[in-house]
Amino acid sequence: MEDCIFCKIINQEIPSYKVYEDEKVYAFLDITQVTKGHTLVIPKKHVSDIFEYDEQLATDLFTRIPKIARALETAFPEMEGLNIVNNNKEVAYQTVFHSHVHLIPRYSKKDDFSLHFGKHMEDYTQEQMQAIANQIQKQVKSNE
Ligand code: 5GP
Ligand code: ZN
Repeated sequence: MEDCIFCKIINQEIPSYKVYEDEKVYAFLDITQVTKGHTLVIPKKHVSDIFEYDEQLATDLFTRIPKIARALETAFPEMEGLNIVNNNKEVAYQTVFHSHVHLIPRYSKKDDFSLHFGKHMEDYTQEQMQAIANQIQKQVKSNE
């Protein structure tokens, strides 16, 4: 896609520090290096976000991730964990609208990455939780 920075990286029009490539997927260092080895994994096909994936594209992208995750783990034995993050749409902090998955190696809880999961279980009754689950379940089935 024209004017997409990640398509330009795939096409070598913009340089990148490549860590993996095959016919479907490209992986390269995120320029910000939130932690050492911070990697982006992207499909070569331009899609904006997760809502545009079909099953085949999801298979193509997500089957490569464990392999790259293990490569990070063996490349950096001091790594103690890994966050896998995929932001979709601006409200969810997406800034580049070519879908990508962040692999963020974790070396310590004090490194420069954080994620806040607020706890809101007290805001919902059991009935409300069931209604929410049903609402989603119905859509998963009808989208199949
Ligand atoms: P998002 O906020 O959309 O989830 O993540 C986009 C990521 O792309 C950011 O972490 C940002 O550092 C990275 N990024 C943006 N432009 C470039 C670039 O030109 N090269 C590389 N390697 N990473 C980039
Ligand atoms: Zn693109």
